[in-house]
This record gives sequence, structure tokens and C-alpha cells, in this order.
Amino acid sequence: MTLRLYNTMSRSLEEFRPVRPGKIGLYTCGPTVYNRVHIGNLRTFVWEDVMCRVFRALSYETTQVMNLTDIDDKTIRGAMAAGLPLREFTDRHIATFFADLNALGVVPATLYPRATDHIPEMVALVKKLAARGHTYESDGSVWFRIATFPGYGKLSKIDLSAVKRGARVADDEYDKEDVRDFAVWKVAKEGEPESATWTTELGRGRPGWHLECSAMSMKYLGETFDIHTGAVDNIFPHHENEIAQSEGATGKPFVNFWLHAEHLLVDGEKMAKSKGNFYTLPDLLEKAFSPRAIRYLLVSVPYRMKLNFTFDGLKAAASAVERLESLDLRLREREGRKGKEEEEISLKVNAPEAAGGDFAERVSAAHRAVFDSLEDDLNTAGALGALFSFVKATNVDLEAGHLSPADATAARGLLHEIAGNILGIMPSDAASGLASSPSKKSPSESSSESRDVDETWIDARIAARKAAKKTRDFKAADAIRDELLGRGIVLEDTPHGVRWKRKP
Ligand code: AMP
Ligand code: ZN
Repeated sequence: MTLRLYNTMSRSLEEFRPVRPGKIGLYTCGPTVYNRVHIGNLRTFVWEDVMCRVFRALSYETTQVMNLTDIDDKTIRGAMAAGLPLREFTDRHIATFFADLNALGVVPATLYPRATDHIPEMVALVKKLAARGHTYESDGSVWFRIATFPGYGKLSKIDLSAVKRGARVADDEYDKEDVRDFAVWKVAKEGEPESATWTTELGRGRPGWHLECSAMSMKYLGETFDIHTGAVDNIFPHHENEIAQSEGATGKPFVNFWLHAEHLLVDGEKMAKSKGNFYTLPDLLEKAFSPRAIRYLLVSVPYRMKLNFTFDGLKAAASAVERLESLDLRLREREGRKGKEEEEISLKVNAPEAAGGDFAERVSAAHRAVFDSLEDDLNTAGALGALFSFVKATNVDLEAGHLSPADATAARGLLHEIAGNILGIMPSDAASGLASSPSKKSPSESSSESRDVDETWIDARIAARKAAKKTRDFKAADAIRDELLGRGIVLEDTPHGVRWKRKP
């Protein structure tokens, strides 16, 4: 089977072909760091995590870049309300974001670039657009004139007859169908904090929201790269504007595959901060649901279908995870049996009435069935269906005493590869002998290799530790130090602050 993905651009399933053989460049729009993400946001991030795990299992060397939006209308409003400089305000929310990803076993992206660390790249992009006649200045801000980009609307299939020539929209986010020129550079407004404006060749101001994703994706992945993702609300205006900015500046195709996740809903409505109908991860953990159960719920519905969040659904997810764990436990017991009983079991296995016949063949058939689903546009529900058919049959065999210790090891291997390494709903188990690529380690799995650990993440963890110390939560501070140590990062408290180094 070949990997097929649903491309929003063509509105069809397409066979995936990378720009460079064996490699995937993936840009995943990250959070706006002005408050704690909710589990709707986390559905999208967990889906992207599973996607990376699948790509790596298919032997693609995958580079995932996830931006952190630390400058936009919302972060500025938040920082002003909190009375904090922008960076200090966003640092706090980046720290909780990483804590949530960590709790859900999300494998860290290759890079988490922050918008405010890329102002020069964004200014250069605006200058390039200006040189190619795509922008104009008005009221001190710089605007993208969408009439200069004939492909405008090709992703969202928006109705361009509604365009009012020269009409402009200053908000970073705006309503569907509101097709107007958008700001790429916004002049500093009276009352806006110093910490949220930059003096550049474009004047004193700050970038429009869409600009960061064009600038940072092309910086780290090249002018044309493989896959760009987000949830469906990103299609318009955000991704449409990214295409206009990027292709307007380079004259080359920007992205080959656009993938968009459907929303997580509550009572039929999109979960959103603005509606107040949201749960954060800590809200659910407080109700004694495990991160694995929450993750199970999030991956149980294929990404292109809406997922209606209910507590009954979450309870069902918790019992599904328990079924996996209890099978694993029983298989482990079976693996441990030696001597006479083992002989008896192997006699039974070789007997004509043994349930599985060639058990190894059954394991590889289950493996194939799971991957057939995953390669079919990342169909996680199909993958879980195949996994649970295997779980059911294996439970029956165990009950009947048809499994040898070697069969039990093979069954555990499959369980840990699929439920552990790919779906992240069980711990992955190195002891099962399954190869897992080095970049597949999750932040919760200790690793002595620190080469891959992203510096933004380290800085965020250090900031979180500092915040914990400030509130005299020394237990949390120590836990963060240990977490970093587990990933090969050593902290040193010095009179000038905290220094970190990678363990040799
Ligand atoms: P934001 O912080 O608003 O930029 O959102 C971060 C990511 O979460 C974006 O890709 C959004 O499209 C996505 N998102 C927002 N709300 C939901 C939801 N209810 N379900 C799934 N994804 C969402
Ligand atoms: Zn983006």
C-alpha cells in the first residue's frame, strides 16, 4: 500500500510523493500563546503527532516545524491585561503548552520557532513582496493587495466576486468570506506596549499574524515543501494568506499537500475559548481521567471527521485503554512461564486444534491491516479496529491456553508497536525488541540523547521552573529539573541565573 493523503487544495485523496526522496518537510501551525490550550487545540496537535510517528514508521526522515505565535492581537491584549512585558507573558503560556504536550506523550517537533525571534526574516519577506508589486502602504501599515495575486482563493475556494477593491482588514483573524486586503506589517498604535513593537525598515510596528508562518516555514523547510497542516478554521484566511505571501514572494509553489483536521465539538459546537465551552487538559486530569484515555479519545475518530466530546466517550476510551493494558499484563505473565507448563502450551500450539495456526502470520496480518488503514489518509479508527480484532482473538487464545511464551512476546511486540509507538496510547516498550527510531522518543520517555532537544523547549522548561520557584512550589521545580536531566540537559544555578548544558 502507498501512503495517500487528502489534499485540501485538490479536495481529493492523492498519493503522497515527497519533494526529496525519503524525507518529509512538515509545517504544523502552532498555538497562539495567550492562554492554556483546550482539548480542541490538543486534538489537532495529537493528530499531527500521530502523523509524524506514522511517517517515521514508514521510514521517512521527518522534519516537523511548529511555530509559536507569540505576537498578535490576542497576545498583546493578554500581556496588557496581565501587566507583563509580552515575552514574559508568552513564556508562561509556552511553558504550559509544552507541559500539556508532554503529559499527552507528544513527541516534540524538530523545531518550535517563535514569531518574535524572526522579525528580520519577516521584514525581508515584506520587502520582497513590495519589490514584486504585491503591497502598498496606507496609514503607516503595509498591506497585501490580493488583486495582484491571481491564485488568491485557490485553497479555500472563496467567492472572489465579493472582493471590494482596496478594502482592508486590520484584524489578525477575520470572518469567513470577508475577502479583503490584509496587513503584513502593522504600524504601532497608541497605547500598545513597547515590548510588542519593533523598529525596522518598515517603521515602528509589528508583523501581521499570517506573515510568521510564511517566513518561518520557508526558512526552515525551503520555498517549496511537502506538507502544511492546521485545523479547518486555518484554511481561510490564514492559509490562503500564507500562500499569497509565499508564492507572491518566490513565484514558486509553496506547499504540495495541505491537510486540515476537523474540529472537536461540544454539544455540536466548535470548542473555543471565545464560547466558553472548553476543557483544558488539567480540567480532565483533575476529574481523574488518565492522559492515555484522553489521547485515545482524541485519536479514535479520523482527523477529517468532527469529534463530539462527551464524558461517556471519555469513559469508553478509558476502558479501551484498560483492555489493552490488561492484555499486556496477561501476555507478560504468559511470557514468564517456564518448564512443564511451557511444554504443555507448545504442545497445544502445535496441535491441529490450536486457535491461531501460525501465530506469527496472525501478528503480521494484524500489522498489515493497521498500516493499510494508517496509509489510507491516517485512518486511526480503522487502525484501532484492526488492533482490537487482534486483541479480541488473542484474548480468546490466551483463555484457551493456545499461546506459547514466544507467541505472547510476539503479541506484546505488536501491541507496543501499534498502541505504544504509533498511537501513543500505551507505553512503548523497548524490551519488546521493536525498533523505534531515535526521533520517536516522547518527552515523557527519558532519553540520554539530548542532541534532538529543542532549545525553545529547554528555555520554556527553565522558565516554568523559575515560575514554580517563585511561587515556592519546589516540588514542581525539582520535577522540571529531573525532567530536563532525563532528556540529557543539566541545569546549573549560578549567581547570574540558570545555565544549562547538554550531558556529554
Ligand atoms: P490557536 O491557538 O487558536 O491558533 O489554535 C491552535 C490550533 O488549534 C489551530 O491549528 C486551530 O485551528 C486548532 N483548533 C482551534 N480550535 C479547535 C477545535 N475546537 N478543534 C480542533 N482544533 C482546533
Ligand atoms: Zn500558521
